[in-house]
Formats: sequence, structure tokens, C-alpha cells
Amino acid sequence: MVAIEIINLTKDYPRGFWRKSYRRALDHLDLTVQAGEVFGLLGPNGAGKSTTLKLLMRLIYPTAGTARLLGQPFENIETHQRIGFLPESPYFYDYLTAREFLDYCGQLFGQSRSERRRRVGELLERVGLVEAADVALRNFSRGMLQRVGIAQAIINDPDLVFLDEPMLGLDAVGRREVRDLILELHAAGKTICFSTHVLPDVEALCDRVAILNRGRLHGLGGLDDILKMKVQASEVVVAQPSPGLVEELRRLTDGVRIAGDKLNLTVPDDKLYAVIECVRQKQGRLVAVNPVRPSLEDYFFQEFGTEKVPDLIKRL
Ligand code: ADP
Repeated sequence: MVAIEIINLTKDYPRGFWRKSYRRALDHLDLTVQAGEVFGLLGPNGAGKSTTLKLLMRLIYPTAGTARLLGQPFENIETHQRIGFLPESPYFYDYLTAREFLDYCGQLFGQSRSERRRRVGELLERVGLVEAADVALRNFSRGMLQRVGIAQAIINDPDLVFLDEPMLGLDAVGRREVRDLILELHAAGKTICFSTHVLPDVEALCDRVAILNRGRLHGLGGLDDILKMKVQASEVVVAQPSPGLVEELRRLTDGVRIAGDKLNLTVPDDKLYAVIECVRQKQGRLVAVNPVRPSLEDYFFQEFGTEKVPDLIKRL
């Protein structure tokens, strides 16, 4: 089943005091996401990611085009009962506590008092806010507010979840938790569509991605196919290296650095197995082997950095 079908979606924002010119933020976007997919919306700043999500949520209206969500026209209010949304910079009533705010969100979905009590308790636990549950939101850090935002996005146990930059403002632990949460939603058969700048999150989570640039679809498909960024080297971490092992590894590869009591190596692909075999033979402890890839920013710069900017600002 198709969960999201975007057809020719276009958005022009008016510009200037007289609003006689406009900026095309989204340009004839066509996109289909299957039910059960984790789908990544990628692109540099200003690419049109938030605009796409806000259009789908009916927070803003399209200049042209349409969409279907969960098989229904996207203007269908009832369908939105089955959809969750985390905006990029969520605003909360900050005199409410996290518990009160989530309870309020549950009320908006018509949940009963007992249902809300259960669901809010469950979610506070799920996003690690049990201890801060009764603290006013104005005292929350950016990361804590993001957790509240994620909790409200799934208060209605949605079938389709839109998350705009869900990792923003989170520390490493928070990011790990959000990743786990997205994987849990995925395992439960939900469709998740999220925008991000962070490549490891995309690698860990997404079945497919769309790359947007200046409102246009630049690529669609599996991450490797789209980014064409093949792994050329791996970062290898070895604990408890003996002097003999260090010497042997230095003979094998150039990128050997000592970091505390560990060894960090950047190993080209053609040497990887030789390095692992050497660590095994000399009884070093292999801690990690991670692919070294450029960041999404590197990719965007390479793809779009020097591109001639199309004239998107048109006079009416
Ligand atoms: P992204 O989420 O990929 O960073 P956005 O969808 O926020 O991109 O923005 C796309 C383009 O639309 C940008 O050029 C941005 O400046 C413009 N834009 C976004 N929101 C508005 C608005 N409310 N009014 C005018 N221009 C806007």
C-alpha cells in the first residue's frame, strides 16, 4: 500500500512588502512512499524539506499540486487522526508541564482520561522524561523540549509519522534513543518520513531517501545509489595493542594514531582484511570497524556548492 503520494506539489511564498514577487520553495514535486517504509528527506538548507512536510500536514497550502496520505486526499481531516508530526522548531505552551502538555495533546485527539493517563505515562518513560514530567516546559533544555515534541508526535499512535529534523538539539544519548524509537515504530509497521542533515542517522534508519535541492527532486532511491559515495576506507579501533602489533600495523598502513590506550587506524579498503588478520594474530582486541564516508554536507557541497543558482524568484 502507498502511504504518501505527492503529485506535482508546488509552493510559492510571496516576497517583499507588496508581495508582488514570489519565491518558489517547492517545484512540481512527485514522490511516492510505501507503507512501512522509513523514508529520509534530505537536502541543504532551503531545499524545501520543511515546506513539503508543512504542506502535507496542511499547515500551509499549495500553489499547485496535491497529495494522498494513507490512501486519502491530504485535505481529509479524519485521516490526520492517524498522522503524527514533529515540526522543526516546535513551540509549546511553556507554562504547562510535560505531563500537562501531552495530556492536552491527547485531548485534541479525543482520548479518554484513562487512555491519556496510560499513554502519557508510557510516552514520558519512552522519551526519558519521567523525572521531569511535572516541571514547567519553560525550564526545559532544547534537548528535553525535542523529546516532548517527539512524544506529542506519537501520542495518537499514528500509522504515519512526519518528523522534521528529529535529532536537532539532542546529545548522543538522545539521538540513540530517537533512532531506537524510529526503529520500533518501523517494526510496528508504521511509515516514518523524516528530514535530517545527519548521514549516520540516514544510514542507520532509511529504506529510501529523496534528495531535494532548491525545491526540486534531485534524486530518489537507496542511499548508496543516490549519493554514489562508496566506502573507500574504514576506521578501525584496536584496544590493548602490544608494541609488536603497533609496529606491524604501521608497516601495513599509514594512518595509525595512538589515542589513549587504543589505536585508531584509517585503513584503505584493499588493506582491511590484512589489518584485521594482523590484529587477530597479535592478540589485539578489535573494538570497531566503521566505514569512513563524507558527510551529507560534503555531498551537498560537491553536488550543489558550485551549481549556478536557477532563477527561482520571478516577478508577477
Ligand atoms: P528546508 O526545510 O529544506 O531548509 P524550507 O522548506 O524551510 O527548506 O524553505 C524552502 C525555501 O522557502 C527557502 O528559500 C526559504 O527561505 C523559503 N521559505 C520558507 N518558509 C517561508 C515563508 N514562510 N515565507 C517566505 N519564504 C519561505
